[in-house]
Amino acid sequence: MKAPIMTAAKSVSVVIPVFNEAANLGELIPRCLRACAELGSAFEIILVDDGSSDGSAKMISEAVERHPGAVIGVLLNRNYGQHAAVFAGLAESTGSIVVTLDADLQNPPEEISRVVKKIEEGFDVVGTVRADRRDSGFRKLSSRLVNAAVRRATGVMMHDYGCMLRAYDRRVVDAMMQCHEHSTFIPILANYFASRPTEITVSHNARAAGDSKYGLWKLINLQFDLLTSMTTMPLRILSVMGGAMAALGVGFGVFIFVMRELYGSEWAAQGVFTLFAILFVFIGIQFVGMGLLGEYIGRIYHDVRARPRYCVERIVGREANSMLPGRGTASGESSGATVTVTKERISAPSEAIR
Ligand code: UDP
Ligand code: MG
Repeated sequence: MKAPIMTAAKSVSVVIPVFNEAANLGELIPRCLRACAELGSAFEIILVDDGSSDGSAKMISEAVERHPGAVIGVLLNRNYGQHAAVFAGLAESTGSIVVTLDADLQNPPEEISRVVKKIEEGFDVVGTVRADRRDSGFRKLSSRLVNAAVRRATGVMMHDYGCMLRAYDRRVVDAMMQCHEHSTFIPILANYFASRPTEITVSHNARAAGDSKYGLWKLINLQFDLLTSMTTMPLRILSVMGGAMAALGVGFGVFIFVMRELYGSEWAAQGVFTLFAILFVFIGIQFVGMGLLGEYIGRIYHDVRARPRYCVERIVGREANSMLPGRGTASGESSGATVTVTKERISAPSEAIR
């Protein structure tokens, strides 16, 4: 593989969260290196190990050794979740364009050049729409509902917030790094700072190996993160609903009173079960409302404590990186000569949430 020619083109950082993806890394890394080498600009591939237990971290360290300067490993000390892992990668990225990507090869690395090109055209956030999405029917349906809700709530007309193959201009990344809230959904956060967003259609594959890292519970949590991170509208809807319910209650009271006057007290007794039914509906809605309030309050509590989003155990290969001034050129080839440099990190909060 030829070393990329350094042109005036912008430098590119590719950030990939990795959680138990050992079965995919063997194919992912060479494909990413090839795709990046073809960009013709300086690049770095930042693999963030999100506390994997299947040897992914070791594979990342080996890849750093094999491709010094081109691959960087950020090893978190445990599992913090996909978006926290991406944040850890963003914090370490130095490119003027940052591309995010999943490690399971659902997003083909060959599409990197297309999102990069869009940023070079002057857009600052490039979203993607998965053509012929290869996921389960349940996932597709829930995505469709969520995407419609996000469009409505944020007013940003993107069609697919779930696809993580995306590109961001450095300015947007820097703005995102200033945000310290925990429950973030990066594509939505980026749109908040986007002045020229766009989206393109990309191909999508079934997961190459392993299972989705999102079980039902994690998925529910993600949807709440998404909802609470973008809007407080549900709380307003709750107040409106409460008002409407109170008015309805008064209306029912009057109705029952009138009926009782007209048809006698027998009628009222027969209406008991109807009243119960109505009551249960209201109680149910109240519980949903309280739960929703709890979701917001829980997140406020989380953020007030201001704990770091993640803790970096080790960064591998940063010193050998080509994108830092005075280093060699990024190469997809193994030189074998450069020793992997590992840097111990102290997990100071300011560092981790930087
Ligand atoms: N991931 C992660 N931490 C997690 C869960 C997932 O870093 O706690 C990574 C995972 O390795 C993959 C990406 O996030 O690169 C997307 O995960 P997955 O493919 O399981 O999600 P899905 O495609 O099912 O939405
Ligand atoms: Mg996936």
